[in-house]
Amino acid sequence: MIQMKMPIVEMDGDEMTRVLWTMLKETLILPYVDLKTEYYDLGLKNRNDTDDQVTIDAANANARLGVGVKCATITPNAQRMTEYNLKKMWKSPNATLRAILDGTVFRKPILAPGISPYIPSWKKSITIARHAYGDIYKSVEAKVPAGSKAELVVTAPDGTETRSLIQDYKTSGITMGMHNLDASIESFAHTCFRFALDTKEDLWFGAKDTISKTYDHRFKDIFADLYESEYRALFERAGISYYYMLIDDAVSRVVRSEGGFVWACKNYDGDVMSDMVATAFGSLGMMSSVLVSPSGAYEYEAAHGTVTRHYYKHLKGEETSTNCVATLWAWTGAMRKRGELDGTPELMDFADRLEAAALRTIGEGFMTGDLASLSKLPDVTKVSTEGFLREIAKRLD
Ligand code: NAP
Ligand code: MG
Repeated sequence: MIQMKMPIVEMDGDEMTRVLWTMLKETLILPYVDLKTEYYDLGLKNRNDTDDQVTIDAANANARLGVGVKCATITPNAQRMTEYNLKKMWKSPNATLRAILDGTVFRKPILAPGISPYIPSWKKSITIARHAYGDIYKSVEAKVPAGSKAELVVTAPDGTETRSLIQDYKTSGITMGMHNLDASIESFAHTCFRFALDTKEDLWFGAKDTISKTYDHRFKDIFADLYESEYRALFERAGISYYYMLIDDAVSRVVRSEGGFVWACKNYDGDVMSDMVATAFGSLGMMSSVLVSPSGAYEYEAAHGTVTRHYYKHLKGEETSTNCVATLWAWTGAMRKRGELDGTPELMDFADRLEAAALRTIGEGFMTGDLASLSKLPDVTKVSTEGFLREIAKRLD
């Protein structure tokens, strides 16, 4: 039995991923690790019963203990209000966690043998680091009738106004105002630099400073200043590099690359590019995700949702074939980080072996339906949700 020093914050969730959560722990973790967790039930029923206090408690525990692992959860909509008889349309738990931990989300596809990316040169995965504050996601917009004038007005604390003309509209049109904050960009840059050091991968950052000479240029400068003042020496020691490039240049280099780096993206670029990268690498069931807070807390999860369609089949007693890989990577990520922080290499080693066993299972042709339909292997056996976990356990032993 592998011993742990400090607990991991365990956040349980909903539907098929909640079913998977228990099966995965029982089959692949509890027989090997004397698991210490601080458990929070973020299932929708308990969020409703506790007026969502449980999510806040879990986020604070994650900040206090440093490492958390989260199951996918339902973000309520109108249909869920009736399905779960909710008091309120509770906020997305991920939004609550992000608000309390104040972090950047890193999404990385998991590569498995026989599942090839659509882009043949990609040999290693590409991690997208998406800035999650501001820009067009917090903008004001207006339709402008012909004959109007739009101006950008900044009012200083002493009341003085600086005006710049956006457009004198001879014909009708549209306009938009957006913003960002130095502090948010700085914390985004810090988390990206630290993440690259952690994973020992190069960091790329692309923006459009040639066109946006003030706005995007500010992003470029903040990254460059922090790199020179705090990170250059650490990067050189780790044998990795930081590259700034124009966003269009970044896109073309990404496609021609072998992968194996962290790609920091402004909010909108990250939204668009993470879907491109995830799709180009294969299945939603293979996308891992970690929220890294500037204070050094980590929250690991799968990027996918609660897989509702499979859950309804499961409730009817039908066999499901739900891929546990991204959820497994959430657990191995959390155990590896816990091991690193506590100085328990056995736990880190177990996380490595567990991942290797899962990849070998897929490489030997045993996989869930989502992967079976993508696999290039000659002999593929599509297995059930439980069957896949059992095949991984066999190889782990
Ligand atoms: P989803 O749960 O990600 O599933 C969408 C579809 O993708 C599934 O129906 C399935 O396709 C495929 N899929 C996703 N994960 C898979 C896996 N592990 N194995 C096999 N196939 C997988 O998205 P959704 O159905 O839009 O959302 C369901 C619920 O999840 C919603 O209530 C939403 O609020 C919540 N959600 C939570 C999070 C989170 O907690 N981070 C993120 C996103 C969504 P097939 O049906 O074709 O097999
Ligand atoms: Mg999107």
